[in-house]
Amino acid sequence: MHTISDAVSIETPPNRCPVCGEVNELTTGVGAARPAEGDLSLCFSCGTLSIFNADLTIRPPTEAEQAELNASPQVRAAVEAFRTVHNERPKH
Ligand SMILES: [Zn+2]
Repeated sequence: MHTISDAVSIETPPNRCPVCGEVNELTTGVGAARPAEGDLSLCFSCGTLSIFNADLTIRPPTEAEQAELNASPQVRAAVEAFRTVHNERPKH
């Protein structure tokens, strides 16, 4: 089990979220110093799930990957945790 104190942030190329258009240039991982190809990225602004390429750019999940994500209780829990925190964050 990892906690937030295990979190490490690193810079990425500017990644535009395919859904909300936000450009994310930082990724925070828990339990891994650097995302590997195929790891999951969650948009900090809207919670959209993308997949990391080897160069830390992102791409949308394939249909098969999306089905896998939809079926994963761990992914569902992560998205729900994001939504809870996001909704409690002060708006600006
Ligand atoms: Zn987004």
